[in-house]
Amino acid sequence: MIFENTFKKFLEVKEFFKNLVGDNKVVEDLFKILEKPQREIKVYLPLKRENGEIEIFEGYRIQHNNFLGPYKGGIRYFPEVSEDEIKTLAFLMTVKCALVNLPLGGAKGGIKVDPKNLSEKELENLSREYVRKIYDFIGPDKDIPAPDVNTNAKIMDWMADEYLKISNSKDIKLKATFTGKSIENNGSEGREEATGKGGEIILERFVEKIGLKKPLTVAIQGFGNVGYNLAKFLYRKNYKLIALSDSKGGIYSEEGFNPELVMECKKERGVIAGCYCVGSVCDIRLGKDISNEELLELDVDILVPAALENVINEKNAEKIKAKIILEMANNPLTEEADEILNKKGVIIIPDILANSGGVTVSYFEILQNLNNEKWSKEKVFEELEKYLSKAFDEVWEIKEKLNVDLRKASFIVALRRIYQRYMLI
Ligand code: NAD
Repeated sequence: MIFENTFKKFLEVKEFFKNLVGDNKVVEDLFKILEKPQREIKVYLPLKRENGEIEIFEGYRIQHNNFLGPYKGGIRYFPEVSEDEIKTLAFLMTVKCALVNLPLGGAKGGIKVDPKNLSEKELENLSREYVRKIYDFIGPDKDIPAPDVNTNAKIMDWMADEYLKISNSKDIKLKATFTGKSIENNGSEGREEATGKGGEIILERFVEKIGLKKPLTVAIQGFGNVGYNLAKFLYRKNYKLIALSDSKGGIYSEEGFNPELVMECKKERGVIAGCYCVGSVCDIRLGKDISNEELLELDVDILVPAALENVINEKNAEKIKAKIILEMANNPLTEEADEILNKKGVIIIPDILANSGGVTVSYFEILQNLNNEKWSKEKVFEELEKYLSKAFDEVWEIKEKLNVDLRKASFIVALRRIYQRYMLI
């Protein structure tokens, strides 16, 4: 159902695209092809728990399309992971890589597990088992996984190590089978912050384009890798972060939070609640706790969903008061919400553009591994700015030319690249 709804949004650009390229039959064929992933892998992962019992976990790797290059996409660990969700995210990866002009296709993986219920050793064993099961289908020229929700550099290091072990090789190029590795293990500088940095680059281009004056108020749902790093970069660019949240709830302050201090406090307390850090101090009088639902409905200039899918849906879309939504999570709006918000005149900066910084720096990590290079963080961010600014400008040009919203314009830019390659196959 999630895939069907997401693909429906994509189908809306078919007629625009036909008019653009004028080849109806090929466009029809291409949409038919993109509606199905090229391969769906489902695996069962036996894990011996510390109490001696065997538990079986379900895992997926869905390879959507590789017309532009090897499949690319993260692996998430989450109790509610479903095949439908992974398929949707794999499709979005195909579109995202094409949009940013990376020579990569789209895939996504996941294990139905709550990692918080596993010991570190169990987590490692489960991650290695997953690699053993999908080994034949991955590699630098086949499919290159990366971190996503609840996975990180440590997990990528275990996975890369398992891959090299099975390959019986020490060839550093094979490490390019996984991105988002730790720096000591041939990861890239800046990968950790890349998705947040990318969000900042795209938002800054947008703000400049329509001439908005700062400080602009921002509410961010999710204070993990993406939400925290974006908050950090926006704070440095003079945005006012009036609300932040994690899975247990949110915090609000009219003064605007200092995200680095909030993170220090969250690390100490375990939750963001009560972390009212403004300027250089944290004080109980500077803020109040709010729920995640309240955060989404705040009257802010920019609302940033940076946690989960479908958090803005037909139940709350009418209540959204933000003027701009920067989609840092994948698929945070349902199709119905997208329609309601567009009608209300809310500007939506779509996920495939807003959160494309992560996969772009993953691509730089592949290049560094394959060419045995080590780029500085400055170089990584400079290159990132070039890729994302170009993607933004192309999207803006199509938006103006065809008078469509930013999501449709992003789909069209991506589709144009996939179409051009398809014509050569
Ligand atoms: P993460 O696990 O580091 O952080 C997730 C955050 O969301 C945490 O703060 C968690 O507390 C919060 N959260 C979880 N459930 C919540 C709920 N019900 N309500 C509010 N907050 C909740 O994950 P991440 O890597 O930051 O990914 C966040 C989103 O961004 C996902 O949709 C992911 O697919 C997308 N994304 C991530 C990357 C990346 O490079 N990490 C790249 C592109 C897109």
